[in-house]
Amino acid sequence: MKYVLALDQGTTSSRALLFNEDGQILSSAQREFTQIYPMEGWVEHKPWEIWTSQIAVAREALEEGGIALLDLAAIGITNQRETTILWDRKTGEPLYNAIVWQCRRSAPYCEELKKKGLTDFLRERTGLVPDAYFSATKILWLFDHIPGLRERAKAGEIVFGTVDSWILWNLTRGEVHATDVSNASRTMLFNLDMLAWDKEILELLNIPQEILPEVRDCSGFFGLTHPEIFGGAQIPITGIAGDQQAALFGQLCFDQGMTKNTYGTGCFMLMNTGAKPVIKNSGLLATVGWKIGDEICYALEGSIFNAGAAVQWLRDELGFIEDAPSSEHYAMMAGESGVVVVPAFTGLGAPYWDMYARGGIFGLTRGSRKEHLIKATLESIAFQSRDVLHLMQKDSGIELKGLMVDGGASANNFLMQFQADLLQKPIYRPKNLESTALGVCYLAGLGVGLWKDREKLKGLKIEDRVFLPQKDCQWVEKKVDLWDRAVQRCLGWEEK
Ligand code: ADP
Repeated sequence: MKYVLALDQGTTSSRALLFNEDGQILSSAQREFTQIYPMEGWVEHKPWEIWTSQIAVAREALEEGGIALLDLAAIGITNQRETTILWDRKTGEPLYNAIVWQCRRSAPYCEELKKKGLTDFLRERTGLVPDAYFSATKILWLFDHIPGLRERAKAGEIVFGTVDSWILWNLTRGEVHATDVSNASRTMLFNLDMLAWDKEILELLNIPQEILPEVRDCSGFFGLTHPEIFGGAQIPITGIAGDQQAALFGQLCFDQGMTKNTYGTGCFMLMNTGAKPVIKNSGLLATVGWKIGDEICYALEGSIFNAGAAVQWLRDELGFIEDAPSSEHYAMMAGESGVVVVPAFTGLGAPYWDMYARGGIFGLTRGSRKEHLIKATLESIAFQSRDVLHLMQKDSGIELKGLMVDGGASANNFLMQFQADLLQKPIYRPKNLESTALGVCYLAGLGVGLWKDREKLKGLKIEDRVFLPQKDCQWVEKKVDLWDRAVQRCLGWEEK
């Protein structure tokens, strides 16, 4: 038996999962690390803590798995995307804290870019819109605020990397400065068509290309771990992908039109759009899913701000449920009602894009009970997912085949059945909900030849449950009509 170690470097914790060649988890370890909030809207991590927590859990998972290092075939890295680190090329010493994807400090730079009329240009080249999420303006902020950095960058003394590059650099002790196409496509510096750093954008932003990592396929040889890292062994690192793209791969969404939805605090949806990026002005992002050899897969990405968060609201603010899973029981016993909940706590994203929208509860009667509100809140997660999926279908002209689901709230059977009814498509829930780690395990395993091809992976997948639509179109129309009317009443609620 051979094994693959997946390093999953997330926003709040570092995790490591050891998989065997059947794709089953042998052991895992997890460690949280410090979140730094220096100012309202700013978020930082300590680069050394990202590394030390990641390597600690890697060693823990290996130890717990009890395997011989000789049997560890490969390592894969998946990571929080867009987070930006600059470090010294010679010493490997970080020059500032990691600026986390959530950090809003570079928003003024994005406003500047918009004012200069560059939004369409940047979207066409990178698939992204000027936003503080993406790495480019985080680099600009560092150049402007850390004395001497821009000059040192020009002199070739410093390097930039997203978290995957930082981990790879440290695993190889500075031998390899590289990233993969999926992470590169989140920087706003990467040309989606050419699959290379965009020289014009770099010039426009005055970012020297020398600081950027080499961009490689998601699956293939990146380098060997330095002998001191894992007791003398040199393990090949053969897979890298950003967390959402890794999840798309882990869900085996290999064909055009296949889509995954992760139901967490928010929802993250990615649709495989095939060999061409879909770039439209509707608020969805175009991104690279993966590249392996000659095969390139692009994806459309959309997100929902409040999904599982609305279930937390039922639990913590309203006190209607003891815990998130019990929402299922209440929803099942609620029966039909006309109650609609729109959890627009922080505005509404795609396809509405209204930051002034606020939440609302509609259709109350004297007979309305808390079960009805619980049920309507779960339903709101499915309605919002449907809105984004419909936009994806419209933008891409591709019809959704079926929806692969994962994330904490996908465990809710009521929610999944309602989603299937609403979409009139089957919903597939795998037994292993760790799609992100599984995805990069597959990429790394394929990269080292542990599995001959992707057909082999299909044989490893264990379905937990398939939810088939049980309602008819008329039912859907009535439901969607109520939802649409409720949303309309929430738009623009907060006065500008
Ligand atoms: P994240 O990665 O965003 O922290 P998770 O994938 O761990 O999220 O999922 C946690 C979210 O899912 C929480 O917001 C929680 O309220 C919700 N959740 C977890 N289990 C259930 C359930 N059985 N039914 C509905 N919501 C759930």
